[in-house]
Order: sequence, then structure tokens, then C-alpha cells
Amino acid sequence: MIKVRFAPSPTGFLHVGGARTALYNWLFARKNKGVFLLRIEDTDRTRYVPNSVEDIMESLKWLGLSWDEGPVFQSQRTEIYRKLAHKLVEEGKAYKCFCSPERLKALREEQRKMGLKPGYDRKCRNLTEDEVKELEKQGKKYVIRLKVPLSGETTFYDEIHGKITVKNTELEDIILLKSDGYPTYHLANVIDDHMMGITHVMRADEWIPSTPYHIILYRAFGFEPPRFAHLPVILAPSGKGKLSKRHGATSVREFKKLGILPEALINYLALLGWSPGNDIEIMSLDEMVNLFDLKKIGKRGSVFDYKKLYWMNAVYIRKKSDDELFKLALPYFKESGLVKNKETEDLLRKIIPLFKERIKTLSEFPPFSEYFFKDDFPYEEKGIRKYFKSEEVFTLLDSIKEELAKLQNFNVDGIEQVIRGFAEKNDIKPSKIIHPIRVALTGKTIGPGLFELMEVLGKEKVIQRLSEIKEKIKIE
Ligand code: GLU
Repeated sequence: MIKVRFAPSPTGFLHVGGARTALYNWLFARKNKGVFLLRIEDTDRTRYVPNSVEDIMESLKWLGLSWDEGPVFQSQRTEIYRKLAHKLVEEGKAYKCFCSPERLKALREEQRKMGLKPGYDRKCRNLTEDEVKELEKQGKKYVIRLKVPLSGETTFYDEIHGKITVKNTELEDIILLKSDGYPTYHLANVIDDHMMGITHVMRADEWIPSTPYHIILYRAFGFEPPRFAHLPVILAPSGKGKLSKRHGATSVREFKKLGILPEALINYLALLGWSPGNDIEIMSLDEMVNLFDLKKIGKRGSVFDYKKLYWMNAVYIRKKSDDELFKLALPYFKESGLVKNKETEDLLRKIIPLFKERIKTLSEFPPFSEYFFKDDFPYEEKGIRKYFKSEEVFTLLDSIKEELAKLQNFNVDGIEQVIRGFAEKNDIKPSKIIHPIRVALTGKTIGPGLFELMEVLGKEKVIQRLSEIKEKIKIE
């Protein structure tokens, strides 16, 4: 049976790169009717960030990526790692190293000066049993290092990158167990993947250099290694370097706050490195499961394109029913203070259809529509400069206001008739009057259809705003 895992370290909020790794593992498990395990690799206490475990789990759930097993916490398994590390020492496949941090620092310094690759010089690899006993008697602290073969090569097959071979002389005797008795990533990772029956390891390709060590470790233990698939890195929008905070939101939590829908984020992430072919872009999780194929994952890094994500989010927003969108938007309106009671809630319901086709994220919805909820909204300077060049505009707005005041049925059709009729009567293009009305009523140059928004705004507010525009603009 196929079994995969997502094995994040709790060193921060779930990054989109991690989310994509989780997604590919999840898809692979579902596709093959296998098992998806969540393992928290929390043995490095110095890098632990509080709340990150909670964030990782919440974010995965929000994205719809539930796990079948776990979460397993490595910090609760340290005894297992310790025992197995010592077993390797007994079998002569690993050794105790008593070199002090000061010695290692001096060594690195020396290597740097001489232009050599930094690495441990294997000083303790050949200590005799008596020497080891003596040092232990003195109470010297030690780490356990892996005895990497001194010659030959280590090869593994990667499902995405093909055959990868390194010369063993390029490798060093890495630490397996630290002096505080905690395992390193390498040790705990290999033991767990074996003990938990992981058949396929899918992880970021930054782990490729670690994999030869893992292969050597699997052999040392006499374990069968799993299969590996290293996923392409996610690049910054410029294509240069990894995606990082400098470029904008990077964690799932931040995208949620921006009002990206989980379906959209998942769909976008799926395509970062995998292409299902046939120009397929918009896919539900079920469709992804059907189409997912390890062979179609690329080697090269994929650029994170915020614009494309926002476009995709807009597609998913449009797919929502008015009621669903209302529920999704409500928290953003409450947070912005625009919706605070039954009346404003009802107003939000009314404007949903006006904005559904126009918003890209949920967080931009409140500022984009605030003029429905309050009268003291800002006026775009550019709109004023463009449409209020002369006094004539105010005269026109004044006259149209009079006409609108006479309108009995203040609905889209009635409003449209009045405005178009007015333009015709005065021999002006409708746009000449439509743009300034929009600015006067909303403060903005773009937004929903003018007649629709006027109907929802209501006669009273429309008349009031048209009457006050001259004053308002002057005051600004
Ligand atoms: N704990 C590692 C990480 O945070 C896991 C790497 C792996 O999947 O082996 O990326």
C-alpha cells in the first residue's frame, strides 16, 4: 500500500511551498488509495516557533487536506532515535565524536582560510575503544556521527530528477545524535520514514543534497529506502530566487486574511510545478486527484504569480451562490466595521450581486463598496480632476437631480430612462453625465453598473449626495 507523509518542522506559519508539498502528497495518496500521514518534525527546539503547529494543522484543514494518520510528534519519540543511534555505534557504523564546539569552529575557520570546503575532519572516527571510554569517564560530551564510506559513490533514483549520484568523498560524517541526546533531522527522518512504512517521500528539492546521507543511513540500518520525488522550488515573481516575505504574502494564513478562497489557493498551488496537460487550469480537488501524475511534475522552479492567483480567486468567487458569498464576505465586513447590525447585513446581501463579478479578493470588497454603508467616504482625486473640470458639471448634476427627484419608481429601468432621456434632451453623450454621477455617489471612477447601484443606494441618498457634491469636493 502507498503511504506518504507531510513532515513540516514547526519553524513558522505554513508557507505556500509547504502547502504545495502537502497537497502533492495528499493527491498522490488519494489517487493511489493510500495513506497520508502528518508528522511534526519538532526535535530542533532552537528553531521552534510557538503556535506554528496549530497554524500548520489549521491551514491544512482550511485547505481541505485532511490527514489519515497523525499528527505524530518526533519530540515524543526521542528515546527511539537515541537507542538506534547507539545501535549503529555498537555495530561500527557510527561513532562518538568528542570534538568541542570550539575545536569545530577553529577547524572551519582554518578550512575557510585555506579555501577548503568546510566539514568535519573525522578526528574521532578512529578513536580506540579505550580512548572513547577514557573520554567518557572524564565526562566529555559527545555527538554521534555517521561513518560515511570513504570511497565509492552513492546513487539514488528520483522520480522527478532521475538518477542522482554523488561521490562519497564529497560527503562528510554528519551528526546523527546531538550532545543533548536529541536526534538531527537526518536520523529522525530516516527512522520514522522506515518505521511508519512510508513508501514515497515527496519533498522540496532543497533536500536533494541530504538524500545521499539518508541512503547511507538506510543501508547502515538495513532498511529498504522509500522512493523519492523532489519537488521544484517556488520562485519569486521575478523568477530570481525563492519566494519570500519581501514579495508579499507567503503563508496560507496571510492569503486567507487577504480573502483568497481555499479552493483557489489549492488550485493555484497545484499548478505550480505540475501540469495536468490539455490546458486544464480550473480544477476541483476531486478532479486533481483524478488527473494527478508524478510523471507530470517538472524539474524547474515555478514562478509564483500573484496576479494569476488573484485571477483564479475571482473565478472561484464568481462560482459562489449569492448566499455563499454573503457568508464568506461577512467576516471581512464585520472586521472593517461596515456591517454591524441587521440593517447593514441586509444591505450587504443586496450588494453581493453587484460586486460578484468585480472583486478578486474578499478583503478588497469592503473598501470597494464602503459608500453603501457610510456617507463619509473618500473621493478619488483622479476622478475629480477628470470629471469636474468646469462649473457646468455641477449645473448638469443639479438638473438631473431634479429629474430623479420626480421619479416615482426608483428602479434600474426608471433611473436609466431618466438619465438617458436627460442626455438626449440636452444633446450630450450619456457618458458625460454618467461618470460625474458615479463619482458624486461613490467617490470612485469604477464600480458596479451605475443604474443598479443607484437603485440599491435608494432615492434619498442619491438626491442627498448629488445635492452635496459641490460642497464636498470644495472642502476636500
Ligand atoms: N522537516 C523537514 C522540513 O521541514 C522535512 C523534510 C522532509 O520531508 O524530509 O522540510
